[in-house]
Amino acid sequence: YGLFALQHRGQESCGIAVSDTEGPKGKVLSYKDMGLVNEVFNPEKLEKLNGNIGVGHVRYSTAGSSSRENAQPLVLNYVKGTLGMAHNGNLLNAVELREELSYTGAIFQTTIDSEVIAYLIARERLNVPTVEGAVLNAMKKIKGAYSLIVMSPRKLIGARDPFGFKPLCIGKRDNAYFLSSETCALDTVGAEFVRDVEPGEVVTITKDGIKSDKSLCQKNTARCIFEYIYFARPDSKIDGMGVYESRINAGRILAKTHPVDADIVVGVPESGNVAAMGYAMQAGIPYGTAFVKNSYVGRTFIKPQQKSRESSVRVKLNVLKEVVKGKRVIMIDDSIVRGTTSDRIVQMVREAGATEVHMRISSPPFISECYFGTDIPSKEQLIAHNRTVEEINDVIGADSLGYLKVERLKELSRGQEICMGCFTGKYPLEPPKEDIRGEYKK
Ligand code: AMP
Repeated sequence: YGLFALQHRGQESCGIAVSDTEGPKGKVLSYKDMGLVNEVFNPEKLEKLNGNIGVGHVRYSTAGSSSRENAQPLVLNYVKGTLGMAHNGNLLNAVELREELSYTGAIFQTTIDSEVIAYLIARERLNVPTVEGAVLNAMKKIKGAYSLIVMSPRKLIGARDPFGFKPLCIGKRDNAYFLSSETCALDTVGAEFVRDVEPGEVVTITKDGIKSDKSLCQKNTARCIFEYIYFARPDSKIDGMGVYESRINAGRILAKTHPVDADIVVGVPESGNVAAMGYAMQAGIPYGTAFVKNSYVGRTFIKPQQKSRESSVRVKLNVLKEVVKGKRVIMIDDSIVRGTTSDRIVQMVREAGATEVHMRISSPPFISECYFGTDIPSKEQLIAHNRTVEEINDVIGADSLGYLKVERLKELSRGQEICMGCFTGKYPLEPPKEDIRGEYKK
């Protein structure tokens, strides 16, 4: 149920690994495959996964190709038993580390950076008496974004990189502990939210309870602001800030900084809806539903070529003509990447009879790559690369276009330090010289 609740974070592959803390040390049962949670798992498959400790994952690939071998959790046998591991984020020094490890005999089975982490943990475990100590030592070697869940035969460990790029939280139900990227999954399984894992913190859960190590915590943090803008579900809270509230704020700010006379405010489903509500509340203009989304067309269906990307917008979204006909429409989306979606929907809303279409975006223009776990195409393919807002508007064909200002972004995380590298080109950690990212799949 937890994986179902996190399905929005990755739709390519998924998996579960379980073990029994009272059972033999090397015995881990696992199953993973390409596809959505309900495609990969059925009651018979789940029935076989017996245990009292486990880790699951849904994958959205940035580094490493989208294939079965690269699905997670990774399960690794080594002298001290078996490790299961799930990783969210992207490492900056995986290529160097992989090379170093390969020259000393490591054989890798996947092409994902996560395997480097698992390998380092296994190796470090030979030098220190505990698996949490091995996780800490591995963390000293890896650079980049990672939220980790590590299952050892007797313990469950959660770790968050010192910048806290990706979220990770702790929940509890009766005597059971949960670790999850988002709080919405805790709600789904009926667990109570305990707290967020802090950036740099390692928590260890055993049958005796939970322990924490904060020796790698640092003052300098950089939460991914795109989690609040697009990635996370609005019913999740990250580091004390509700994603819903954050998007309402973004809409309100947009209404103040980019006002325009109009009859209706609409959101581009799903990610633009909450910000549209915020805009409408602030501007005192009615909020409406202009699009019906077909929730049954998965991303897998959508072909990667530009041409089918264009038609896929029509497959996914249809306009409610009676809502926009004869109206001046303000349309809110969370981001423009290549511009394909905006271009198509502006045209669709006009064809449905809108007299004016004003586009407002609840994030700043995407001008740069992300090296920390968001799949963004190379600079040249970004519509905002080397274009002014007016020039972008000429391409998408709206009556006006307004973006959230970079200076206002911190308000979306209640003033907490953030990474906004994709909007500024300035990163909290030096980006790698070689581009190690995958390809954008929208
Ligand atoms: P585009 O059509 O390329 O401009 O994509 C814009 C749409 O993609 C917006 O509606 C966003 O909600 C969505 N989006 C933004 N970033 C990503 C991402 N990294 N992966 C998938 N979808 C995204």
